[in-house]
Amino acid sequence: MSEPNATTGLILNEPLLWERGKKGRRGFSMPAGDVPRNPLPAELTGDGPDFPDLAEIEVVRHYTRLSTWNFGVDTGLYPLGSCTMKYNPKINEKLAGLRGFAAAHPLLPSALSQGALRLMFDLERFLAEITGLDAVTLQPAAGAHGELTGMLIVHAYHRSRGKQRTKILIPDTAHGTNPASAALCGYAPVPVPSGPDGVILPETVEALMDTDTAGIMITNPNTLGLFEANIREIARIVHDRGGLVYGDGANMNAVLGIVRPGEIGVDILHLNLHKTFSTPHGGGGPGAGPVAVRTDLARFLPVPRVVEKNGMYELCEDHPESVGRMMAFHGHFGILLRAYAYILSMGPDGLKAASRLAVLNANYVREKLKDVLHAAYDGPCMHECVFSDQNQKESGITTLEMAKRLIDYGYHPPTIYFPLVVHGAIMIEPTETETKEDLDQFIEAFRSVIRETTENPGALKDAPTRCKVKRLDETAAARTPCLAG
Ligand SMILES: *Cc1c(COP(=O)(O)O)cnc(C)c1O
Repeated sequence: MSEPNATTGLILNEPLLWERGKKGRRGFSMPAGDVPRNPLPAELTGDGPDFPDLAEIEVVRHYTRLSTWNFGVDTGLYPLGSCTMKYNPKINEKLAGLRGFAAAHPLLPSALSQGALRLMFDLERFLAEITGLDAVTLQPAAGAHGELTGMLIVHAYHRSRGKQRTKILIPDTAHGTNPASAALCGYAPVPVPSGPDGVILPETVEALMDTDTAGIMITNPNTLGLFEANIREIARIVHDRGGLVYGDGANMNAVLGIVRPGEIGVDILHLNLHKTFSTPHGGGGPGAGPVAVRTDLARFLPVPRVVEKNGMYELCEDHPESVGRMMAFHGHFGILLRAYAYILSMGPDGLKAASRLAVLNANYVREKLKDVLHAAYDGPCMHECVFSDQNQKESGITTLEMAKRLIDYGYHPPTIYFPLVVHGAIMIEPTETETKEDLDQFIEAFRSVIRETTENPGALKDAPTRCKVKRLDETAAARTPCLAG
């Protein structure tokens, strides 16, 4: 390895603003007022905090330095992938800032919001086309909220058929939000163990699916980065016994333009626009979790729905079987706008190419690391590859320590200890945008960390040592959080 990506040279110390400044300094330079000063009466200002007096440059430097302490996808490769922060083309941000959209008021009458409504109408059509389903709601605020919407639709469907069911099948590899969303709708989650190859076997579903089970929630590709190859057979079993197939589409980044879930047995699917279709969302920013359904379930979608009448777009509440409203106004419109811009700028071929590259990059990393890190499953993966720390057992080094040491090499650690079914899991999702050179440098850094597990284990025990904040006691942070700042 020529040079690690990280350097310690210019990491500057940064005291709190309260510890800086000198009485009488000013943060602005404006002419003195030409009217008499008239301070607020003391009873209105009270004993407010004693704000520091700072010069403009002190404040500018303070915040600019703090901003360089952050690691983001604009700084370097981020192996958490689309699930947390794939690279989002800047053009989508620019378009989301267009004044006509950014300043539109949600209470404007439809006649004055034709552009925004048409964008929503068209986006619903694009997402229907991409998912192979028929009707879409853009309301849900994120993936988990999409799941809740989908489960309400499952609930409404069974009620409409005269008999409610009590359980729902959920694979053991599922994201934790799946059982939570099902439980919120009164369904008891029934875990479905995955087979030895990391995918669900039809016979397991056959044995669990009964007429008291409302359906299955299935993530495809699943959270192990594997395609649920038996999905059609599983869907047939669930449908034969009167259940519905809910697809968790959080991993659609692997299959855009390649697999349409509606064509392989999925009845309801949520998409995470903020994962797959461009929106920065690390740190809990807003997302969007549109839900697509097949035709006969469209009557249950949330209201209002965007409809077209004689070339005009309007909001329609007239859907008596709807599960109701899931969000105020139009959902997270700014996120919808980014997804719309992303889909149009990529086009069908571009979206397909992005997924193919995402899968290629993950398999490249997998192939280049599998002689030193234990690959949890044999054979090619989809958009993410899962390893474990099994090969490092003898050295006493764990997944956590390798992940922390990567920070010293200038990389954000990948997802660790998830999915839960792989002991000591290390999940790497490079995404489509990384170049071969950047992937090679990451791979080299990781290989170097693995060499250290035997040659210099002490470096891993203390890692990270080169960065501003050293190893944190994560348990203490959770048990005795310091919220005072
Ligand atoms: C991220 C994710 C979710 C939840 O989506 P949010 O948008 O974070 O609410 C659900 N399932 C899977 C597989 C995910 O990766």
